[in-house]
Amino acid sequence: MQSRKLSSTPTVTGQCLCGAVQFAMEYPAFWAWHDHSRASRLAHGAVYATYVGTWRKRFRITAGESEINRFEEKETGAVRSFCRRCGTPLVYERTRSPHMINIPRALFQSRTGRQPIYHIAIDEMQDWAYAGEPLVPLKGYPGVFWKRSKKKSRMQEIRL
Ligand SMILES: [Zn+2]
Repeated sequence: MQSRKLSSTPTVTGQCLCGAVQFAMEYPAFWAWHDHSRASRLAHGAVYATYVGTWRKRFRITAGESEINRFEEKETGAVRSFCRRCGTPLVYERTRSPHMINIPRALFQSRTGRQPIYHIAIDEMQDWAYAGEPLVPLKGYPGVFWKRSKKKSRMQEIRL
């Protein structure tokens, strides 16, 4: 009987890097957002984190529950869980919205039903974040692209 509800609801799945922890979320997500806060930057080791938010009751761990560790932020009370085998951030629970949970967008293997059009802590965005500037191949390094320095592009503008 338990599987009846699951099979009638479309779900999307995801996992951590090593695959020990797997999860499913009912589709679609509630929303998706980019988090530029310092805490998320450090927790992910990335310039910002992109999350998919959903109702807690619409999310479940399907494998590897015992591999999940939790870290509580003292200042905010927020809880971040991660795979203790590979370190992948899994769930971010914020105290301000106890019925919602947030899952890194990158862990889903398919669409989640929401585009990340929202930004949180945009004032903390780092000046080294890639913002979609035009890139060019780096000569002699296949697969490496770079943004020409401003100085050089200004010179090019002057030449034009
Ligand atoms: Zn893992």
